[in-house]
Amino acid sequence: MGNSNLLQDAFGRKHDYLRISITEHCNLRCTYCMPEEGIKLTPKPHLMTADEIVSIARTFVNLGVNKIRLTGGEPLVRKDAKEIILRLGELGVNLTITTNGILVPNFIETFKQAGIKTINISIDSLVKDKFNAITRRGYFETVQKSIDLLLKKKFNVKLNVVLIKSFNNNEINDFISLTKNKKVQVRFIEFMPFSGNQWDQSKLVSYAEIMETVQSEYAISEIQRLEDAPNDTAKNFKIASHMGSFAVISSVTNPFCSTCNRIRLTADGKLKNCLFSNSETSLLETLRAGESILPLIHQNLISKMAVRAGMDDDLKFQNPELFSQNRSMIAIGG
Ligand code: SAM
Ligand code: SF4
Repeated sequence: MGNSNLLQDAFGRKHDYLRISITEHCNLRCTYCMPEEGIKLTPKPHLMTADEIVSIARTFVNLGVNKIRLTGGEPLVRKDAKEIILRLGELGVNLTITTNGILVPNFIETFKQAGIKTINISIDSLVKDKFNAITRRGYFETVQKSIDLLLKKKFNVKLNVVLIKSFNNNEINDFISLTKNKKVQVRFIEFMPFSGNQWDQSKLVSYAEIMETVQSEYAISEIQRLEDAPNDTAKNFKIASHMGSFAVISSVTNPFCSTCNRIRLTADGKLKNCLFSNSETSLLETLRAGESILPLIHQNLISKMAVRAGMDDDLKFQNPELFSQNRSMIAIGG
């Protein structure tokens, strides 16, 4: 097989979007992401160095990757985050980042220099006490200020909101109100099951429920369906008179696997062909041995399943025996 097809899986899906987790550390402890008891951190020698991250990313770019997202853990807590961002910025791809926003003010110049245009910030509540409770820390105002700073500095800002029943589903229309005068995209994300995150079906706020809630506040004629970008995981909408927009990411009730173009690299150098996959391919050991990682990339991609790592129906997807074999989200990189 020629290298140009190496990122194609058995179902003809071409993978041109690489998500790299650069750390398992975080300055927050979101309940749906980080297990209460914490996670067993990978010893530093087993984590990718900046050189190794750039080397693996370059291999993927040479194979056809044109978009890279940095994630974690919290990517901005890594000591050499600035160096990594700047070096990846030189690869000529669409570079983006998902962050909790706390350290954003220290990185504005770095983002600009690296050519980053869009930043995703996670914020699950607009109520201080609730935000601080779900993150188990006290950074509500800091994150609010970071969002305003990014808007002032002319970045496209997307706000990731994981919806959890009886916690923040009563804030759906408050988040939409935020789009009235702020040019942000609010992204409602269905709560997904991972190891140690206390997921159960009753906490899920589905795409259908989200839209019902929006329709209880806005007339159907005011809710515009926007065109989704190719491979977009989000269904995009806008309230006609609002500056910003909103979207729903329905990985649980409406998976978008048929157009999936994502591949993930964990901080310890393992390739995951699906967020929900338990099987991983270590690229790092082979890279360190000075051998080619191309056969491993091919092997990993070609074994990608059609739908959610084989959990193609609700029973399998919601089975704790299956999802608890996966990593916690903090160690995958969402
Ligand atoms: N620390 C950064 C942040 O919070 O934005 C980046 C890493 S975080 C794991 C990436 C995204 O995954 C965040 O937007 C977070 O809300 C989302 N996430 C984490 N656990 C999730 C879950 N169980 N279901 C849905 N989304 C989740
Ligand atoms: Fe940290 Fe992000 Fe996970 Fe929250 S969602 S614990 S900020 S990695």
